[in-house]
Amino acid sequence: MAKITVNESCIGCGACTAVAPDVFEIGDDGLAVVVSEENIDGAKEAAESCPVEAIEVE
Ligand code: SF4
Repeated sequence: MAKITVNESCIGCGACTAVAPDVFEIGDDGLAVVVSEENIDGAKEAAESCPVEAIEVE
């Protein structure tokens, strides 16, 4: 079972929510939060699109 996390490097750019809206949303603090861990491929794709490499998929 993979685990998707967003670390403290996130700058809230929104790229991950555009690539994988089923996995990431921008939270009240303006930073990305993981809302589902169903779409691992989408999460990996979003991780590659993240400008600060804040997304980790284990
Ligand atoms: S793409 Fe990276 S920096 Fe941008 S909102 Fe998502 S986790 Fe944060």
